[in-house]
Amino acid sequence: MKNISRREAIKVAGSTIGLTAFGLPVYSSERKAERLSPDKKHKVLVIGAHPDDPETGCGGTMILLAKAGYEVVSVYLTRGEAGIQGKTHDEAAQIRTAEALKACEIIGAKPVFLSQIDGSCEITASRYQEVLNFIKKENPELVLTHWPVDSHRDHRICSSLVYDAWLRMNRNFALYYFEVESGIQTENFAPTDFVDITDVRDEKHKACYCHVSQHIDEAFKESHDMMEQFRGLQIRRKYGEAFIRHDQVPTAMF
Ligand SMILES: [Zn+2]
Repeated sequence: MKNISRREAIKVAGSTIGLTAFGLPVYSSERKAERLSPDKKHKVLVIGAHPDDPETGCGGTMILLAKAGYEVVSVYLTRGEAGIQGKTHDEAAQIRTAEALKACEIIGAKPVFLSQIDGSCEITASRYQEVLNFIKKENPELVLTHWPVDSHRDHRICSSLVYDAWLRMNRNFALYYFEVESGIQTENFAPTDFVDITDVRDEKHKACYCHVSQHIDEAFKESHDMMEQFRGLQIRRKYGEAFIRHDQVPTAMF
């Protein structure tokens, strides 16, 4: 793809909508709340590296979006091939794919699996292209993905691939980052937006607990339960999920 000139870049507006446009119980740093046009089925992509990342990171928000009538797609870069001790890649992929399908059914999301391998995710020209082609084809209004500062290499790679696609698509969708197991995986996460997930927290847990092979109950006890309470506390609600909105000046070049 040819680079656009600086003059052209300045003219590009980028997406002007944000989480507030979706009518969620959102507490946001956005100054104005634009509304989505009602004449189109709007799409949200939640892109994670492994089965369980979208669900644990922002499953509550996904459920709220699905209930509000938006098309929610849960995208997994891998099928979690390296994620079950004592199982081959094929066996683990099969088990974890089935777990993700169950979780997506509870959330009301459509699952999609891309072709990377758990633990061996790559950033190459063709991997950038794969994610770009996919997002272009889906044509979403909103994308949620991993925050790039994360101890898991696959999470960082996922974030980078999505960010690159966003730039190449002239930032024509709203881009937000979610957190997973903060303090163990996600680091340096200072949220700009919070969603009150109190009403759907039980459903979120039901979906996340489909990932039996990942000992998800321990992950919730050690991380996600406390994260939901803490993010809720920050907005004076019982349970919350937090996000960082990516705002970037339109002159940024790639
Ligand atoms: Zn992960």
